[in-house]
Amino acid sequence: MAERPTDFIRQQIDRDIAKPDGSKDVITRFPPEPNGYLHIGHAKSICLNFGIAEEYGGHAYLRFDDTNPLAESDEYVDAIKRDLAWLGFDVANRVTFASDYFEALYNCALELIRKDNAFVCSLSQDEIRATRGTLTEPGTDSPYRNRPVEENLDLFTRMRAGEFPDGAHVLRARIDMASPNLNMRDPVLYRIRHAAHHNVGKAWVIYPTYDFTHCICDALENITHSLCTLEFEDHRPLYDWVLDNLSLNARPRQIEFSRLGLEHTVMSKRLLQQLVTDGMVEGWDDPRLPTLAGLRRRGVTPRAIRDLCRRAGVTKQDNQLEIELLEFCVRSDLEDSAPRALGVVKPLKVRLTNYPQSNETLQAPWHQREPEMGTRPLPFGPELYIDREDFTFSPPPKWKRLSPGSHVRLRYAYIIRCDEVVTGADGEVSELLCTYLPDSRSGSDTSRVKPAGVIHWVAAHAAEPVQMRLYDRLFRVRDPKGASLMDDLNPASLVTASGFLEPAAATGEQSHFQFERVGYFHRDPVLPRTFNRVVSLRDSWRPRQASAGSRKTP
Ligand code: ATP
Ligand code: MG
Repeated sequence: MAERPTDFIRQQIDRDIAKPDGSKDVITRFPPEPNGYLHIGHAKSICLNFGIAEEYGGHAYLRFDDTNPLAESDEYVDAIKRDLAWLGFDVANRVTFASDYFEALYNCALELIRKDNAFVCSLSQDEIRATRGTLTEPGTDSPYRNRPVEENLDLFTRMRAGEFPDGAHVLRARIDMASPNLNMRDPVLYRIRHAAHHNVGKAWVIYPTYDFTHCICDALENITHSLCTLEFEDHRPLYDWVLDNLSLNARPRQIEFSRLGLEHTVMSKRLLQQLVTDGMVEGWDDPRLPTLAGLRRRGVTPRAIRDLCRRAGVTKQDNQLEIELLEFCVRSDLEDSAPRALGVVKPLKVRLTNYPQSNETLQAPWHQREPEMGTRPLPFGPELYIDREDFTFSPPPKWKRLSPGSHVRLRYAYIIRCDEVVTGADGEVSELLCTYLPDSRSGSDTSRVKPAGVIHWVAAHAAEPVQMRLYDRLFRVRDPKGASLMDDLNPASLVTASGFLEPAAATGEQSHFQFERVGYFHRDPVLPRTFNRVVSLRDSWRPRQASAGSRKTP
């Protein structure tokens, strides 16, 4: 059991619930906009919000922030729910939508108008932008800023009734056009949008903005701690202003933390969308994407993602993680849990010239250190496949694989010696003629021959042809960005190999394997006879601190 994390957010919560007159409740929410798929950055926010709710005996909502009908859809709603469930968070009866509160939000807007804290502005979007000022210059007041309350009420009611086209009017807060914080310069609270909404259909033609909606939904759900990423820090004064000027019962506290980023990939929904629509990847669940759907399909486990988020921690500092850390988390998880299997990526035929013209069936453990996983039958015969990379004509010093005249052990089976190399017309090696040592069988070896090393193999008569999808980093640079983004895509991010797999693994039910000496693989949930490489076996990441976790090597 991992220790309970401590970070500045949990420390703030500890102080809040320690106040003698304060509430002991801790209620949080994860508020995605259903305009794309969740990615691993969202996982950090999910782990934080749901983790805190669990630790403090509170609860967390999944609230869809669906205030922009043009970008949102049920496809995304369903995908987000699926991803949360997969990550291991049960939100069954705490799923809400900002659109559930449209009537309440409308009433809050009326309240602000009545208090002369909001007005209907008839400037165009461009005019509003042009009069907003800059970081160094104050903005200018809208000519509609002093509209009488009654006129504002009348216009706003008619906006709702659908009397005006898109863009004719907006509702704006009446705060301060000279505020040093641009978000406080009479921000827009409502705009007219004649568009069908995925949840409420055509019931509304005015839609509230994020800044107006979010704080009110938080208050209506009695959220105590509204945890969001740093880009909302400058919006906090507005968050507080809206709540201070409304007569709502709850007063949530907004706290910001830094976004999680990952090297060799992009995380913005806009860029992910672009990769999908431009056909650079095969869809939102492409195993090269940092989306949760993509990671799941690749074979990254929820445990590995939660481990990564825990190691990333919660701070206000830059949180760009090395991709090696994710790979380390994946290996740490699969190391113990994934059964082993023999699979050959680039097959090279081996003929055993002294093996009888029959087959035999050996037994091999699914996992050598986890005997409770049991064993599987492993067919053996006179013709085998080994990986091309395990043979060379001219071995470098300390070569631990096969070469002319050398001995190697076939994993779980016999020692063989390479006697003759057959090459095709193109000069490529087409077949190896070898002899096997009948008394060298693994577990009962009396041959006294010391092989150069151990290699993997598959018996030809029982080999199952499979596609092995060898995934690599999507971008070749650590920090892809800017105009050259698409030039930095890694052309070798997907290499497909036609390999062979031992039958027990190819036809069984298990989802994950370590193909020995090759890497961790995941049975593709969609394509038949296809295995995705989750991660290679080589581990290049070292925890920065000894306490970051124990290192395991395969
Ligand atoms: P966009 O604003 O471009 O649509 P977004 O990634 O902010 O994209 P949201 O759906 O608004 O998407 O995100 C939902 C929640 O997840 C927000 O509270 C946001 O702060 C949080 N979040 C988004 N990206 C990250 C990230 N990389 N790391 C941590 N939290 C994130
Ligand atoms: Mg956002």
